[in-house]
Amino acid sequence: MIIGSHVSFKKDTQLLGSVEEALSYGSTTFMFYTGAPQNTNRQKIDIKLTEKGKKMMIDNNINIDNVVVHAPYIINLASTNEFAVIFLKEELKRVEQLGINKLVLHPGNSVKLSVQEGIKNIIDNLNKIGPSKVTILLETMAGKGTELGKNFYEIKQIIDGVNYELGVCLDTCHINDAGYDLNNFDQVLKEFNEIIGLKYLKCIHINDSKNPIASHKDRHENIGFGVIGFENMINIIYHEKLKNIPKILETPYITNDDNSKERIYPPYKFEIQMILNKTFDNDLIKKIREFYK
Ligand code: FE
Ligand code: FE
Ligand code: ZN
Repeated sequence: MIIGSHVSFKKDTQLLGSVEEALSYGSTTFMFYTGAPQNTNRQKIDIKLTEKGKKMMIDNNINIDNVVVHAPYIINLASTNEFAVIFLKEELKRVEQLGINKLVLHPGNSVKLSVQEGIKNIIDNLNKIGPSKVTILLETMAGKGTELGKNFYEIKQIIDGVNYELGVCLDTCHINDAGYDLNNFDQVLKEFNEIIGLKYLKCIHINDSKNPIASHKDRHENIGFGVIGFENMINIIYHEKLKNIPKILETPYITNDDNSKERIYPPYKFEIQMILNKTFDNDLIKKIREFYK
């Protein structure tokens, strides 16, 4: 099972710190942003910390080919703003320096443009960026606001318009919120295969959802505590056809107590254990709080 979570990438520890955090959750892979998700301030990749991180991965049987970086989500390739192209070129270099070959990207937001104009801009901008050793994985989106990539047809259009090979990252919360019925995941996969092609699927974001199907909200929930439910999540995670695909949790941190709003405890160690046990644990939140207190 290739499973892990979103982890931090800190200024002073970089890749080494990310690997250590992933191992502390019992992960066999991980994902991180090279800086804050919501801004584009980035620092140079430290060669020594990268080498130490890679050594630690080898020593602990983490295959770097299963590790993914997530591009900051404020990058909007659906706009004609030149900055997104410049930033992504630099980001691809950083990912390559880290020895990682997958970069997850939110396709973009059409904002005031039409869907077709937005998609055309995404295609033109990706063609400007050009191919590299790193594969860009377009993430399936919930369709919140004017998000593009909210169905398999939009993703397919972008793949077809770009003159080098892209991949796809399927997010379970997002596709639920976009209107795909995860009670019938085989049908969803069949559609994915017919419209896009299963070989393009390179990463899965494993999140339950706080909101019902087709709500277009994008609010992640802890595994088994949301609308998708534990049984459906297990069915997806253990699906025969998705065996070799890295699975990444992006579920919310846990609060100190029921009245607190501040999310401070990472749930991943416990969620991964629960997934490996294939048994839902109603006391999971309580156990996480007890562990980190
Ligand atoms: Fe994402
Ligand atoms: Fe995601
Ligand atoms: Zn999301």
